[in-house]
Amino acid sequence: MTRSNDPRAADLTQLTRISLDTNNPICQVCGHPLHEGNDITAYAYRAAGEPAYAIGYIMCGSDVHEHPTVFTRGVREYVLTGHIGTCSNTQTQSTTFVFLDPTPVVTSPTTTADPHVHPDAPTPRDPTDPPQEEPTPLLTAVREHARSDGGCPRGGSE
Ligand SMILES: [Zn+2]
Repeated sequence: MTRSNDPRAADLTQLTRISLDTNNPICQVCGHPLHEGNDITAYAYRAAGEPAYAIGYIMCGSDVHEHPTVFTRGVREYVLTGHIGTCSNTQTQSTTFVFLDPTPVVTSPTTTADPHVHPDAPTPRDPTDPPQEEPTPLLTAVREHARSDGGCPRGGSE
């Protein structure tokens, strides 16, 4: 049973142990501090031409926060659940927080802006109509980033 052609399997290999790129991981929605071993949900993306994924933001729990699912054309994106681990560098005596056991709940193919919501995603969401309730600045930024691609149709009557 080789799944070596499955691009998602290759992506998950890349996404495992990806650095959270912060020394103080907190939930971007509620500000709850996150520690090693905590369940988290992460938004990861890789723009076309980039060699590796980066973490866009993290949230506490396993997809417990409702968040808009907005995808950008040409950018490979995942919403993942997993947990926090640490990676110690004995040479620099520093500890890096990393993402372990990534499980995709939402996947965006690069060829379309329509996200594929996995059937077992614990949080119900309507990808075409994200909730309009008090988005955090970061989520607003993500939305506007997405909007800059699609544009805003004005006066489109014929
Ligand atoms: Zn939270």
